[in-house]
Parts: sequence; C-alpha cells; structure tokens
Amino acid sequence: MALTGTSPGPKRQKEREARRRYSRRAFFVPSRVARKVPKTLWVSRPFITQEPFEMTKLRNYVCGNWVEGEGVQSTLHNPATGDEICTVSAVGVDRQAALAYLRDIGGPVLRAMTFAERGALLERMSKSIHAHREELMEIGRINCGNTRSDAKFDLDGATGTLMTYARMGKELGDARHLNDGEPTPMGSSSRMQGHHVRMPRQGVAICINAFNFPAWGFGEKAACAILAGVPVLTKPATVTAQLAHRVFEILIEEADVPEGVLALLVGPAGDLLDHVDFQDVVAFTGSAATGSLLRSHPAVLKTGARMNVEADSLNVAVLAGDLDEDAEAFDLFVRDLTTEMRQKAGQKCTATRRVLVPHNLLDSVIERVGEEISRARIGDPADKDVRIGPLAALSARDDTRAALDELLQCTEVVVGDPNAPLPDGAFMAPLVLKATDPDADNAVHNVEVFGPVTTLLPYDGTSEVAARLMRLGKGGLVASFYTDDRAFAEDLINRAAAFSGRIIWGSKKVAGSAPTPGVVWPQFIHGGPGRAGGGEELGGLRGLELFTQRVAVQGYGPVLDRILG
Ligand code: NAP
Repeated sequence: MALTGTSPGPKRQKEREARRRYSRRAFFVPSRVARKVPKTLWVSRPFITQEPFEMTKLRNYVCGNWVEGEGVQSTLHNPATGDEICTVSAVGVDRQAALAYLRDIGGPVLRAMTFAERGALLERMSKSIHAHREELMEIGRINCGNTRSDAKFDLDGATGTLMTYARMGKELGDARHLNDGEPTPMGSSSRMQGHHVRMPRQGVAICINAFNFPAWGFGEKAACAILAGVPVLTKPATVTAQLAHRVFEILIEEADVPEGVLALLVGPAGDLLDHVDFQDVVAFTGSAATGSLLRSHPAVLKTGARMNVEADSLNVAVLAGDLDEDAEAFDLFVRDLTTEMRQKAGQKCTATRRVLVPHNLLDSVIERVGEEISRARIGDPADKDVRIGPLAALSARDDTRAALDELLQCTEVVVGDPNAPLPDGAFMAPLVLKATDPDADNAVHNVEVFGPVTTLLPYDGTSEVAARLMRLGKGGLVASFYTDDRAFAEDLINRAAAFSGRIIWGSKKVAGSAPTPGVVWPQFIHGGPGRAGGGEELGGLRGLELFTQRVAVQGYGPVLDRILG
C-alpha cells in the first residue's frame, strides 16, 4: 500500500513485496537464511525474519489467556514505507471480566509478596525485555519509525526504569506496605498512637499509554504499580501496539509473571472505563483532549477511582542574557535544543516547543541550530545514516501538520522549509519558527506541534520577562534554562519553577555531564501542572503513591508498632 496518492514504480513494488515476505515479524534468523535475501533489501543490519509473510493479528491477553478480537479494527503500517505490518482488534474482549480477574487473582498474589519479591519480578521483566533488545529495536523501526537511537531510548528507558524499581524493592526487603512518617501519640498517654501507612490499593492499575513510547510508557507505569502491589492492565496506543504487544508477549513467555498480574488490551478501549472500581487507578498518558475526556468519564466520577493524567506540554527552554555564543552553556543549549528536535522526530512529551532567546543572540541561535539541523538526515530509518525518522503514523503526521498550520499563523519560519520535498511516508521536515509577538497568548503558547518543530521567542534576557512568558504555557512537564549567572538562576527558580514538574539548569559547571531536558529519570518525578495534566509519576518511591492508599491507623501503640513495623 502506498502512503501517498502516487503509486510506486514496478521496482519499488517488487522490493516492497519482498520486504513484506521477509520482514513481517522481525525475528532474527540464522545467517545462512539471511544470505538468501537479496542484498538490495538489506538495511543497516539484516532485518529479515524466520518465516514467509503472513499478516499477524495482535492478540489481547486477558484472564490468563491470549484472546483474538473479532474482525479487524485497525491495520498498522510501517510509517516510512507504508507496508502493512499487522492488524488489531479488541472487539468482543470482555473488559469487565479482565479487570475482575486481575483484582481477584493477581491482586492478592502481589499483596502477599514482599517488596523484595515484587522487586525480583521487576528484575525478571527488565532482563527479559533486554534479552530481546535487538529484535525489539527492529520492531520499533518497522512499527514506530524509530531510528536505532530512538528505539534504544524507548527500550532502555523501559528496562532501566523496571530495574531501578527492582532495586528499590530489594532495599525495602520483607515489608509489604510503606510507612509514612513516625507514629504520633494521641491523647493524654503514649498508649494511644496513630500511624500513617501506605497500603496497596485493591484494584487494578489501568495503564493507558500514548503512541510515542510503547515500551517505556508501559515500563514506567508497570514498575510503580507492581512494586506497590497492584496488578496492571495495559492498553497501548493502537498505532504502535505491535511493539507494546511483543514486549508483553516476552514478559508472559519468559519473565515468570504470576497469574493475574498482567493483562493487555490492544485496540480501542471500548467500554473499559465503564467497569472501574473505587480501588482502581487509571494512569493515562496522552493528549490533553483525551485526558479531559477520561477525567470526566461517568464511571470514574461516580466511583472516585483514582485518575492520573500525563498530558501534553509546551516545554520551554530559556537562554539567559548573560551568555554569548562562545559560552559553554550556549553550546549545551544548542546541543539540547537540536537533540530534542531530532530525537523520536520530536515526538516526545518532553521535547522543547518554546525557546526564549535574548534579542542579541537570536541570529547566532538561528545560525547554530540551522547548521546542526541541516546535518541531520531525514528518511527511512532502515538507512543507518538517517537521524530523523518518520512520525509514528500517517494519522500522526496529519494531526501534526494541522497543528503546524495553526502555529504558522503567528510565526515565521527561520530554519527549514515546511514545503520541502520529503520521501513518501509519514515524514515531517524539521523547522525552527520565530514568534511574531511572543507576549500574545496565541498558538505559540497553546498548540502542541508533536513533531520536529520548535519556536523561538525573542525577549529582553531578564528572568522577570522569562518567567512571564513561561507562565503563558499554562503548565508544563519540563523547563530548562541556561545561564552562568547565579542571580538569574535563583530569581527564575523562584518565579517560575512552579509552572513545570521539572526544571533543569544548564551552566558551564555541568556542560560536560548534563543530560538533555527530555530525558525522564525514574528517580525524579515526571508530570506537571495545568495543561500537562496535573499528574505525577516516578520520582523513586514517590511513584508508588499513585497506587497506594494512605491510611491513618490509630490504636494501642505498642501492638500497632509490631503490626505495622
Ligand atoms: P491520545 O490520542 O490522547 O491517545 C492516548 C491513549 O488514549 C491511547 O492509548 C488511546 O487509544 C487512548 N484513548 C483515546 N481515546 C480513549 C477513550 N475514549 N477511552 C480510553 N482510552 C482512550 O494521544 P496520542 O496521540 O497517543 O499521544 C500523543 C500525545 O501524548 C501528545 O500530545 C503527547 O504530548 C502526549 N504524551 C504525554 C506524555 C506525558 O508523560 N505527559 C508522554 C507521552 C505523550 P487509541 O490509540 O486506541 O485511540
């Protein structure tokens, strides 16, 4: 199937047909088989597979069984080539029974396990996924349009997060719940005491993920839920469900996951949320629009099921007025900005969308960023020299172009060409725009272009104005600022830190060691106020709060001490 109106030539069609036959499931095969594949079909590494093409249908995993949905709800495509890769259906899958099974079977099993045992489970999950890293990276290329480095970012994010929580479980040892603070005496004698404890919620972690991180999105939620003692039903975004499905399949086959701890729904959620219970947690990641819809779902409102929303964000980077183009912190800023545009073709919730640049540095920024971006080759990640792959699907490209059209109403293009000829497929040209009126509360501060696009906002270089412009984003996941001026840093943190979930200071002191702002560390919280959803995930043991209930237990102190530890 061609992705555009023009049909491919006969040679291209022949190649596609052969690719279909060989590349369908992306399992690696012995080299003797690999040698039989025409050389022209080889990419950076042979991506050939062990069996002739047969369109696979992703299955759901509910009540301890693999279940095929009825018919076909969606067909997934390679976003670079348009090749069909698999079909999806969750029609006829009994969501109510799936949730009940997890509550009744997996919940008690997990709650009976100690933190150390839950941690050991997470370690097995991490290692099983890691053992299939090459195969999964290949699926990431075919299903999500990932370059090799994009695919690593997703997969290593998943395994790293699972392993971090595995270690926390080991450190927590034999306990099964968390204590929250010291016991507090009540009344006139010390006999009566109150303890705060965090108990696992006796429901299901219903994890609904966005399309951009099929592996990490699952891993970050599952790690916290399972360590807390709560079973997980994961619903990946449909367009990139093939990768999420294979990750899940590996876990069921190889990680020795106890019965009832995991379930998978591939395809639209259907009536899933109609069956939530007051002990369930809906952990959602996706667009602000879907987040609002789910937040106001009647069953969520009626039961009071806990809801966490991780939504989109117009993340901001601020270049301070004290720097010049020779400063190390300036180089760091350029590296960060270009990485955030290039990585995952800009499809990261933490990618930088707005960039505050002092008037006197605007030309230097345009020049340096333009140089870096023009060096990044765009195309099918099957070519190992490609640095910017396609967006995850044609539908994603169309949404992103529509958002770009809005943004172009109040910006001018300073790097790149929105009409540049691109390969067939879900490609989008990297662009740097400049806001015509940075102070106006227009699309620049309100519309997320989920692709390799960022907007420069010229300003006077002061922390006061920077904070005012940051606020116009109405709540973000991450803000970064670059300065060697301590007074600027202190003032900006005081004025603007509360507008994001995370704020990162780049300076000459950390220029050699700072990660880019888009990297989410399991040790630090991820989430943000306002349009970012108001949610919070990860952050070490803080990540367990979502899946536990804080309870004040009051009674005879000496015995409570022994019971609660
Ligand atoms: P989306 O369209 O909002 O979808 C997100 C998830 O919600 C998908 O699994 C989708 O399933 C599901 N969904 C849609 N309608 C639903 C309904 N009525 N009931 C239950 N589930 C429903 O977002 P997306 O396009 O996948 O992801 C891109 C967005 O996510 C961007 O805006 C990005 O900024 C944001 N994001 C945020 C974070 C964060 O941590 N804050 C991380 C990554 C991405 P289907 O695919 O089956 O429709």
